[in-house]
Amino acid sequence: MLDRWGRLHTYLRVSVTDRCNVRCTDCLPEEGVQYMPRKELLSYEEIARIVRVMATMGLRRVRLTGGEPTVRRDIEDLVRALGRIDGIEDISITTNAHRFASQAQALATAGLRRVNVSLDTLDAERFAKITRGGDLAAVLKGIEASRAARLFPIKLNMVVMRGVNDDEIVSMARHFLPHAEHTVLRYIEYMPFENRWHENVPAREMRARLEGEFGALTPVEESLGGGPARYWRAGPLTVGFIAPLSEHFCATCNRLRLLADGHLRTCLAHEDTPSLRDVIRSGADDARLGQTIRDIVRGKPAGHEAAVEGGRHFEGVMTGIGG
Ligand code: SAM
Repeated sequence: MLDRWGRLHTYLRVSVTDRCNVRCTDCLPEEGVQYMPRKELLSYEEIARIVRVMATMGLRRVRLTGGEPTVRRDIEDLVRALGRIDGIEDISITTNAHRFASQAQALATAGLRRVNVSLDTLDAERFAKITRGGDLAAVLKGIEASRAARLFPIKLNMVVMRGVNDDEIVSMARHFLPHAEHTVLRYIEYMPFENRWHENVPAREMRARLEGEFGALTPVEESLGGGPARYWRAGPLTVGFIAPLSEHFCATCNRLRLLADGHLRTCLAHEDTPSLRDVIRSGADDARLGQTIRDIVRGKPAGHEAAVEGGRHFEGVMTGIGG
């Protein structure tokens, strides 16, 4: 799956639902969003078919996301079905981990290899505020269950928002030092979607704050997952920075996003049509489905124009896209 700019696409994020069990302030507007009617969601069979067709065109890695992927019923059935597809080498999940204490082992048994957990703060009260009702203790139990199920490395994603949680950049790293062997902490620049609800902290400033605690960070040369994060060592802990605003990585973007309603997004700043769900439900065979995917990938824009200040916003709502 090659685009006009020579980028090869081997990685797909699949949003399995736009529903979520929390309502984070970086992700959703205060008033919430209208969820899609269930019949508009891709079925597991439809997702597996799209992945199978993409696997014949070079797809190798799939990440399940949402909304919250663990709230979709029998999600381990989808993991199992994707694991049976020739060519798919890696299945992972991005989750808020609220339900993971009871689900991690079953998902690992079904073939899940790795987990990314969203964790913006270690203060229970602040956590409840940022997530509008989330339970930090449940998430920490979910992370423990991920360790027990050996879903390594466990990547923890902290979206950094100035004046909300940026005072925890260093303490978050300190907290996970005892688990440095199997944990990677990733700092993500807050991205403005439609509205700019929070102020951004550029990655370079985050690194400077960590250097105040750990001394010079040393760059990690080996690729850790092949995504957009740039990794460094802070003492024994590996830390990553995803900086879509201050350090654009569009030139090497290898990601595609399948939304819960079947739209294949090639870029966070660009809505693509048609929906693959509509193509499938119109009776298309695999050849036509494959051609549609190829055409959408070919149309991928060179990049986005979002910036730390000003610039353009990303399009859509994060909970519908899946991060
Ligand atoms: N519910 C799952 C979770 O919480 O991990 C998966 C979906 S969530 C939309 C995926 C990721 O997007 C999370 O790590 C979340 O923190 C991140 N995210 C949400 N809104 C964001 C924003 N405005 N800027 C940057 N990251 C964002």
